[in-house]
This record gives sequence, structure tokens and C-alpha cells, in this order.
Amino acid sequence: MACVHGNDPRTCIVCKTLAELDSMTGNAAAGGRRATTAAPVDIVSRGGGDRTPARGGGHFGYHVAVFAAVLIAAAISVWFVAGIVFAFIRVFEVLLVAAVAGTLGYRLGRARGRREQR
Ligand SMILES: [Zn+2]
Repeated sequence: MACVHGNDPRTCIVCKTLAELDSMTGNAAAGGRRATTAAPVDIVSRGGGDRTPARGGGHFGYHVAVFAAVLIAAAISVWFVAGIVFAFIRVFEVLLVAAVAGTLGYRLGRARGRREQR
């Protein structure tokens, strides 16, 4: 079973972030569109003291917030994947250098051993 983002729903960062956002706004993670209608007022009342309640524009703000969260989650996941890839390349590079150095050292040692034997 994969989520909308093609990942495991339990480990997907985007799904987690969305679930966290939902729990922050007081809705269950499984809440549908009905539940999100209450969110803009919730965010405004928490974030901005005595600002006027949202007059329809708040809903847009909520979507922007979700979009930003998804964007950040995507950036983090890209950064995470890139980190893994680079770590893998790094390990591969170290292994390659180690193999080359080992082979060189082995040959050098054998050559030196032969000279000392003579
Ligand atoms: Zn997901």
C-alpha cells in the first residue's frame, strides 16, 4: 500500500507533516474536507492575537500553509535522499581508494620483500 506520494504511508514525510498539521488545527488525521473548513479560524486565532477572523481569505492562507509545508517536506526528503546518495558515493569512493591503496601497498610490499630476499 502506497500513499499519494508513492511512499509508505507510515514513513512518508509529506503524510506525516499533513497529519501533524491536522492535529495542530485540532482535527483528526483522517478528517476530510469538512474538517478543514474550521482550520483557518483556528490558525488565525492562535497565531495573530486579536486579528479579524478570516473572511474567505483565510482559507487561501491555509492552503498556502499546507503548500509550504508540503514544499518544505519535499525539500527535506530531497535533501535526505541526496544525503544518502552522497554518503553512498563517499563510502564507495573510500572503498575504491582503500582497494587501490591496498593493492598498491601489497605489490610494493611484495616487490620490497623480493629485493630484501636477494
Ligand atoms: Zn505521502
